[in-house]
Amino acid sequence: MERVASVIVDVPAMQTNQPYSYLIPVPLAHTVTLGMRVVVPFGRGNRLIQGFVVGFSEIDRQDETYTHLKMIQTVLDLKPVLNQELISLSGWLAHQAYAFQITVLQAMLPSMFRAKYKKFLRSIDEINDPEIKQMFAGRDFIEYDETKFTPEQVSKLTKLQREGSLEFYYEVNNQAKAKTKLGIKPLLDFEQLEEARSGLTKAAHKQSVLLSFLQTLKSGQVVAKDRVLAEYELSEAVITTGAKKGWLAKVPMEVYRDPMAHHAIEPSQPLTLQPHQQAALNAINAAAGEAQTFLLEGVTGSGKTEVYLQAMQHTLAQGRSALMLVPEIALTPQMMIRVRSRFGRQVAVLHSGLSIGERYDEWRRIERGEAKVVVGARSAVFAPLDNIGLIIMDEEHETTYKQDENPRYHARDVAMWRSQYYQAPLVLGSATPSLETRARAQKGVYQLLMMPERINNQIMPTVQVVDMREEIKKGPESTFSEPLLDALKDRLVKGEQSVLMLNRRGFSSFMMCRDCGHVLQCPNCDIGLTLHMDTHSMKCHYCGHEEGIPKVCPNCQSTAIRYYGTGTQKVEQELHALLPEARILRMDLDTTRKKGAHEKMLTAFGAHEADILLGTQMIAKGLDFPLVTLVGVLNADTGLGLPDFHAAERTFQLLTQVAGRAGRADLPGEVYVQTYNPDHYAIQLAKAHDYEHFYQQEMQLRHLAKYPPYYFTIKLQGSDLDERIAAQNMSQIGRWLKKRLPADTIFLGPTPRSIARIKQRYYYQIVIKYRHQNQLDQVLNELLERAQNAGHNAFQLSIDREPVSFM
Ligand code: ADP
Ligand code: ZN
Ligand code: ZN
Repeated sequence: MERVASVIVDVPAMQTNQPYSYLIPVPLAHTVTLGMRVVVPFGRGNRLIQGFVVGFSEIDRQDETYTHLKMIQTVLDLKPVLNQELISLSGWLAHQAYAFQITVLQAMLPSMFRAKYKKFLRSIDEINDPEIKQMFAGRDFIEYDETKFTPEQVSKLTKLQREGSLEFYYEVNNQAKAKTKLGIKPLLDFEQLEEARSGLTKAAHKQSVLLSFLQTLKSGQVVAKDRVLAEYELSEAVITTGAKKGWLAKVPMEVYRDPMAHHAIEPSQPLTLQPHQQAALNAINAAAGEAQTFLLEGVTGSGKTEVYLQAMQHTLAQGRSALMLVPEIALTPQMMIRVRSRFGRQVAVLHSGLSIGERYDEWRRIERGEAKVVVGARSAVFAPLDNIGLIIMDEEHETTYKQDENPRYHARDVAMWRSQYYQAPLVLGSATPSLETRARAQKGVYQLLMMPERINNQIMPTVQVVDMREEIKKGPESTFSEPLLDALKDRLVKGEQSVLMLNRRGFSSFMMCRDCGHVLQCPNCDIGLTLHMDTHSMKCHYCGHEEGIPKVCPNCQSTAIRYYGTGTQKVEQELHALLPEARILRMDLDTTRKKGAHEKMLTAFGAHEADILLGTQMIAKGLDFPLVTLVGVLNADTGLGLPDFHAAERTFQLLTQVAGRAGRADLPGEVYVQTYNPDHYAIQLAKAHDYEHFYQQEMQLRHLAKYPPYYFTIKLQGSDLDERIAAQNMSQIGRWLKKRLPADTIFLGPTPRSIARIKQRYYYQIVIKYRHQNQLDQVLNELLERAQNAGHNAFQLSIDREPVSFM
């Protein structure tokens, strides 16, 4: 019997979506281990590619298949990059998210591990072709970049390769390089160093100092060279002499890049909890060692973060580690500081705002068990923590937890899997839980923990809904209503701060009547129609209904219809003209593109270097500034017109979040919401801070319209360079699925996607609504296999479970 390795190869295609068996070279028999990356020959050409070892099996040498086995070429890592838990998770997730396992494995690792291939041509035999000969210019091999060769040259190269004069091969570059600096390591023991000293002349004072220093070190201890030079006032020359005389060795030393290095973090102590906080904490702590999911539903400012911190502390005290997920880069700096101030260097941070190197270093600190607490955005859910005792997911309703490219996973599902694996509680926190989560808590699947009051009984901010239909009647059109402008002036006088949010969701993609707020609806689906400028029509993305762009409002016959939406820059100019004395900070994608810009702006605002913070949705979350007493929402309705059943839920969540930024300290807060739909229930109930009624009303609508959480949804999207093929294939897929799925499954489409053509490809989609999971995963994975993604130019299919967007 011989041990063979099961390897998932780096070829994202369905027929390679199961492990291949490889022989292990004898010298590497003890090196190749589970979770290690290897280089293996693959395919007919035996090109070398990367793979992950995901298991082992035994094979009989007499077995017929034995002779066909190929052999692992080499290993890329000297120790595994993934452990057993993450490998098991990848297998489950690939199936669950309709993705290739290799794609999942790669998503789990920091991007530094994502190998890049270089292709090379090696001359084996004498090459006679003068052109090709010139390319090689006397070298044995050259890099092959197909974009740089003409078809004629490529044809010649192919011929030479067939004849055996040329070899074509791939090389995997390992990008994962640790940052190093020089260290000093003693090579002699105390006595030997003392002996060396006796041989020194009197003048060699510095060398004597060096010897004394080396005598303070333990055998094998490495100390940073620059530190030694500075502390003992030694020169490079002395170190070099020491090395020459065999006293010490200069060795490379790994250093970590610390993403929080530039923050001065004051340690903080646990606060005395308020009764609701204490009750929530007790429940979470009591569940230690169980895979219990909690929904911590607490209004903005109710002190959820303090509960998270103390629950994590409890977990650490039990010798287990804790994982905390936060929605996006935007709010992580503030949150990170809060966590770091409690747990110090035990905390690792993982989010996309870090440089590749920083991310890699943090990942290694976790993997080595040096960091016991991880705070990060979506992909941090794959942090290589061991022995997880608690998982927290703050703002669990946030859509950024769902990845919108392959693998299309939701961090919540992954968190739940890991919570099961480690038997650790999972805490989902939110002021406005997603309907799915809240419905599960209602049924008792999750345990509901409520924190209905703000800390110190601070009152919720008062919310004024400003009817913009009335405002535009008053005078020249303006982004700012009279009441909001007055309130802004008032804050300037008092020296308090304001936050203004311009909602960019659905920016100019739908049409609305300025007189009555009417948004064109699909007659079949009760969902807003999307404006298509390319075809000059209004389309429904669920059922395919299409109609012309109206010239008058079907509701009130007004001609004041137009697309909705304004840019932040334009609003900033307008605001400058209206309030010339106000200091304005504009925060949007443009002004925060540079690394660290976001954080810098928030710091400046926190230091009261500006009076007004104007921004897009990114300012709605996590800000906690005591001087902010006014929040203005410039256009509450843009999201309402979107052709998506989530529209009301997202609007309610956004308004609640942004309103929560006001009046968080001693000063009471006030919120102005400008809207053309003042009576819409999402706006009215956000004004009343009434999540409970919103939940009930929205659940009724979802029930009637057969949407989640009553039905599950899947979005299938097919694309092709040829529009006819995309449409035909999707129709065919629809028929194929209808035959295999239960009769109560609802099919919508195929319809063209809202942006029907992207990068020359045409997109068609089908939405499936279903009640029971049963065979679904199996059927869809089979479909994925049949609709083999055959490359860039062919038809491509993606399957998205519980899509965040239907556009
Ligand atoms: P949430 O995350 O629920 O919006 P936070 O955790 O940000 O709320 O808490 C709001 C504010 O209340 C923060 O400034 C926090 O420091 C403070 N806070 C939280 N818990 C307590 C407590 N038990 N005693 C005093 N202040 C608290
Ligand atoms: Zn429709
Ligand atoms: Zn109208």
